[in-house]
Amino acid sequence: MSRRELLDVIVVGAGVVGATAALAFARDGLQVALVEAREPPRWRAGPVAAEQSGALPLGSAPADLRVYAFAPDNAALLDDLGVWRGVCEARVQPYRAMRVWDAAGGGELAFDADSFGRRELGWIVEHALLVDRLWAALPVAGVQVLCPEVVVGLEQGTDVDDGGVSLQLGGAASGGSRRLRARLVVAADGADSQLRRLAGIDTVVHDYHQSGVVAFVDSEQPHQATCWQRFLPTGPLAFLPFAGADHAGRQGHRSSIVWTLPEAEAGRLLRADEADFMRELEAAFAGTLGALALGSKRVAFPLRRQLARACASGRVAIVGDAAHVVHPLAGQGVNLGLRDVASLRASLRTAAAGNADIGAPSRLSRWARQRRSENALAAHAFDALNRLFSNDHVATTLLRGPLLGVAARLPPLTHALWRHAAGL
Ligand SMILES: Cc1cc2nc3c(=O)[nH]c(=O)nc-3n(C[C@H](O)[C@H](O)[C@H](O)COP(=O)(O)OP(=O)(O)OC[C@H]3O[C@@H](n4cnc5c(N)ncnc54)[C@H](O)[C@@H]3O)c2cc1C
Repeated sequence: MSRRELLDVIVVGAGVVGATAALAFARDGLQVALVEAREPPRWRAGPVAAEQSGALPLGSAPADLRVYAFAPDNAALLDDLGVWRGVCEARVQPYRAMRVWDAAGGGELAFDADSFGRRELGWIVEHALLVDRLWAALPVAGVQVLCPEVVVGLEQGTDVDDGGVSLQLGGAASGGSRRLRARLVVAADGADSQLRRLAGIDTVVHDYHQSGVVAFVDSEQPHQATCWQRFLPTGPLAFLPFAGADHAGRQGHRSSIVWTLPEAEAGRLLRADEADFMRELEAAFAGTLGALALGSKRVAFPLRRQLARACASGRVAIVGDAAHVVHPLAGQGVNLGLRDVASLRASLRTAAAGNADIGAPSRLSRWARQRRSENALAAHAFDALNRLFSNDHVATTLLRGPLLGVAARLPPLTHALWRHAAGL
């Protein structure tokens, strides 16, 4: 690439959101470079084995412990990009039912794919597998991948007189110093986004003082392709069905758990020996799937709501966790990030079709306003649910059972809620 060359888009951060963005823009005929600090480990089809154990900083996790409840609209996006089939052929678990119930207030909400006329409600997919398949597709689509590489400076001002934005790179892939220019920069570099800071965008942070304990767990009874969530006064406990075999080689008996707990409780449970941990987990899950056994190490990550004050600044768009970190209780983190990508893609397509400037700040700020309000609405809705269910106050406890009961007795309400979560 010559020093004077102006790319269409530079994406910074090649997690699920950034890699999908780069692939989508390249498939639409744009010239795209993708900058990533660390090469991801290759996904292996064997049993899950976590290398790390303990408390993790926000946004980091041993790649092989992260799984996502993937919504149908995002599966369709990856299908359109030619990636979804490869993911499904490797290892995904369709989930066909959901069961949500409250430990203290009673009340239960249960529904399944049949009631929506579908084969499944969504899919449980491994983070490492998604990244692996996306990265394999990038060079084929013509994306220039710069890795390991970091951005050390951002310039958008009067010297960028031909309507571009300039990034200064300082990593190994550029030999320590290189300048890249494009019409648009997309920051997908995660919760601790450096690009967001360089673009001068602040965040609003609410610390939940809770941690999410994550592990793989094998159960005596099969998971029945069901997502289970039990609300406890300390926070929700979710079991997501996993496609991989359990420690005895059985299919359909392994789940990925996300157990929300007050920070101190999570710390105590990480330090507890395995037998004590499993005893407390079985009690928290009320023996729903019988006896449980640990299938991996346990890790905990801090939970907070974090919203960027804006999703764009000049020619820089902010997507994924760089723009919004949400409570995991609705399993929507990566889904919201991919919806940022889908809507930005639509905006770029409209611009390109009209021969307009794809990175024009006025166009970008319209997109950013719409995304910010949708993401803020989702983040605050998850907040409200967490507040309503994660306590043992008498008044809210009395309210919870009837609320779940009302939702269960009103199929149109359940349908509307699910369709919204599914992006349909
Ligand atoms: C343990 C855990 C469990 C989770 N479970 C769920 C779940 O069940 N469902 C769900 O929807 N969400 C879940 N989430 C949230 C989900 O992981 C995030 O919402 C999602 O990964 C965000 O994707 P992203 O691509 O925006 O960011 P990230 O996955 O954080 O990717 C950012 C990328 O940018 C790179 N990068 C960072 N800084 C730089 C830099 N300066 N220069 C270049 N590259 C850089 C990083 O190396 C990384 O590859 C979970 C999160 C954690 C930590």
